[in-house]
Amino acid sequence: MKRIHNLQELSWWLAENPRPAFVPTMGALHDGHLSLVNAAKENLHSVSPLIPNPPRSPLVRGEEKGRPILVSIFVNPTQFGPNEDFASYPRDIEGDIAKLAACGVDPVFLPEQQHIYPHDRLHPVPELPKAFSELEGAIRPGHFDGVAQVLFRFFQLIRPQVAYFGQKDFQQTVLVKWLVRTCKFDTEVIVCPIVRETSGLAMSSRNAYLSDEQRQNAATLFAALQKGKRLYEVGERDAKNIIRGVQDFLQTAAVFDEIDYVDVRGIDFFENVHWIAKPSALVAAVRVGKTRLLDNVIVG
Ligand code: AMP
Repeated sequence: MKRIHNLQELSWWLAENPRPAFVPTMGALHDGHLSLVNAAKENLHSVSPLIPNPPRSPLVRGEEKGRPILVSIFVNPTQFGPNEDFASYPRDIEGDIAKLAACGVDPVFLPEQQHIYPHDRLHPVPELPKAFSELEGAIRPGHFDGVAQVLFRFFQLIRPQVAYFGQKDFQQTVLVKWLVRTCKFDTEVIVCPIVRETSGLAMSSRNAYLSDEQRQNAATLFAALQKGKRLYEVGERDAKNIIRGVQDFLQTAAVFDEIDYVDVRGIDFFENVHWIAKPSALVAAVRVGKTRLLDNVIVG
């Protein structure tokens, strides 16, 4: 497995492999991450029929023989708050590399902080719309600014033809699409479905923090979202009734220490949705001990 450690090595690789497919991660890889890698391998363009992706870009030279794929592993400090888990975030580079090798992808980009933020400087990212200071943005002030920073840098350095993200971090997918539109990056953003444990729990690197009992209880979040989806399916269109249904389910189960939010948001702009007239995201976040769990389903 080839490891790209710095920008010089990156530019050499890009000279041979221009406009790759790009899969950014923070490592501690699980099957959710690997599903993005596999989507890139299969050159998938619209993997989630409920989340329409922009039309396919024209073929680039060499695409017919398989587009090169670049996976990055970088725990981005600017997206963590001062009291968050940057220092303790799970890291397992050798294990990650073994998983990527088993998937048959090569190389992996392992930048250092100084490559992404030379001289500790931030990048000229436009001010984020208000939607990104809500929900996750309200609970984690500055988080989406940090995500926008790192992706701005990656997109400038790599100029990917296509980049793959998970629906798991729904608000983030809206941010990425906003960033690409606003900064006019010539990159197609593909959103891949959430990969779950058999219990329904959405896979996440932070699930490593859960005890066995917490992990069992954690599946209740998806069950609650499914209750919301069922309400929609039997005809409910008023978002506040669906939100209340999910909250009631969570409160009755009483396995979480905090319900951070339950909400219905638009897929393209993350705007508030009051009446569900088109596919929308039912998003929720809870806490179990110190671990936050995020999940969502599409309704409509
Ligand atoms: P992270 O390493 O947590 O920054 O995640 C890297 C990418 O993997 C992001 O686009 C995530 O949304 C995606 N991802 C994380 N968990 C899952 C999952 N369970 N299913 C699908 N994609 C995921």
